[in-house]
Amino acid sequence: MTPRGHRISMEEKGQRATRSTDVYHTEATSKQAARCSRCKAIYWNKRWYLDEEQFSVTSRGVIRHSIVCPACQRMLDNNPAGIATFRGDYLIQHEDEILNTIKNTEKKSRMKNPLSRIMEVVQEGNVLTISTSDDKLAQKIGRDVFKAHSGDLQYLWSHEHNFVRVLWSRQQ
Ligand SMILES: [Zn+2]
Repeated sequence: MTPRGHRISMEEKGQRATRSTDVYHTEATSKQAARCSRCKAIYWNKRWYLDEEQFSVTSRGVIRHSIVCPACQRMLDNNPAGIATFRGDYLIQHEDEILNTIKNTEKKSRMKNPLSRIMEVVQEGNVLTISTSDDKLAQKIGRDVFKAHSGDLQYLWSHEHNFVRVLWSRQQ
């Protein structure tokens, strides 16, 4: 039962990667204040802000460093921290609702933690795969879909790499 395609090669990369979450954070946060050159997230005083709007306007002048934030770096490396898969006949019939649930979960999560993002959404046959830059987001997505649509939910952990695989399915 090994489907082929883009989705699987991405998962393999995620598993092979030797960079841990901590490495990502250390690289980005060696500066006291910085702005991500890709998504414009702002790092200041050990906290990430979504953008200048969320960050206090009065402090704007002090950011001179440009970096790539851990979430964008994960996208560049194609190295998700979590992968959630959704499958089953129920998914096909309710795909829009499920996708809406997933997007709402990301939106809420991103307001609290700007580095918590969906990296990619892949639809392949009757399997929907969501990769995330943050392992907690993959869990939240699974939990929210489970809450709204029941079904079966499983988490599989790889502690070594701070990587989580979330498996949801529902047949009818
Ligand atoms: Zn970024």
